[in-house]
Amino acid sequence: MSIRDEDLPVSTGIPSTERRVAPPTVIEVPPIPVSFELIKALPKTDLHCHLDGSMRLKTILELAEQQKVKLPADTEEGLAKAIHMGEVCKSLEDYLVAFDVTLSVLQTHDALYRAAYELAIDAAAENVRYLEVRYSPALHLQKGLKMTAVIDAVLEGLRAAKRQTGIKGGVIICGIRHMSPQTSMRLAELCVAYKNRGVIGFDLAGAEVNFPAKDHKDAFQLILKNHVNCTAHAGEAYGPESIAQAIHHLGAHRIGHGVRLREDGDLLNYLNDHRIPLECCPSSNLQTGAVSELKSHPLKFYFDYGLRVTINTDNRLITDTTVTKEYMVAHEQLGLTLEDLTTIIVSGFKSAFLPFREKQDLLAAVNREIAATLQQFQRKLKVV
Ligand SMILES: [Zn+2]
Repeated sequence: MSIRDEDLPVSTGIPSTERRVAPPTVIEVPPIPVSFELIKALPKTDLHCHLDGSMRLKTILELAEQQKVKLPADTEEGLAKAIHMGEVCKSLEDYLVAFDVTLSVLQTHDALYRAAYELAIDAAAENVRYLEVRYSPALHLQKGLKMTAVIDAVLEGLRAAKRQTGIKGGVIICGIRHMSPQTSMRLAELCVAYKNRGVIGFDLAGAEVNFPAKDHKDAFQLILKNHVNCTAHAGEAYGPESIAQAIHHLGAHRIGHGVRLREDGDLLNYLNDHRIPLECCPSSNLQTGAVSELKSHPLKFYFDYGLRVTINTDNRLITDTTVTKEYMVAHEQLGLTLEDLTTIIVSGFKSAFLPFREKQDLLAAVNREIAATLQQFQRKLKVV
């Protein structure tokens, strides 16, 4: 039986150290082949997933019809083409076109609720057990919604999916680099108000070139003063100095992408020494041109060096991906083994913006489930 703090005599005023911390579980990884079915069956996280880039095609078409919004195409096939779904884009502008399309139908309570609900349902269907959904409420005000209503709609959608599937997680609010620092501050205030009410973190997204992170320092100061977790997109379209700014000026606890971290050894070691997790999204990096081919993605180098890497989708719809697909890319294109992938899965849970104790409980359950799933697949192999 484990001892919980509430069972212990209190009165000393000294924080209890009596909580038994289980030693890290060593998962026995059997020599079985990596398959799509196996990766899909394993419990996973998605820590970097944009709401407005992760809708269902069919939903966009239905919402457009309901809302009388004109789309560039009126079939799933045509729309997939128009948003360059899963294709390598010629330019960042090409890539960003897709967001104009999704945002055009994400301006009502019902649409936001549905997008969040369906995203969490789809993630749960591939055994994502913990999902952090990010978006910027400032981009959903075109039809007069208040920022608070935008947040409430998404939180309600995620709660409904949690009731149905058990998927845990929360919302990360994004400041946008090309918007004014004042807008970032308004978003940070919103984030602080919704802390412990479904919002679990703050982010800085948007074009890195010409829009340095330090312009948004005040917003992040408010976030840090209120002890809210934060991350920032950095080192995706700009060099390592962008990552240094995110860490030192914004106080980022994690880094989105960090593709160009490999260009600065000192900084790479700093992130490694401080165990600052990287939210890697390989296919998205190929699509936007941050890497020229999947084989040259630094994920494996970072992992081999000892950095805490996590694998994520970024935009499930626009990149035509899933968490399972991204793990398969890491295996097939980068040569990561089942043992490596299992370690990265655990890193995903370790890097979650969750209270430590909650994270420990989740990790304990996840470790057991990973071990059981691996054994189950090993048994199946023997039977065949
Ligand atoms: Zn992103």
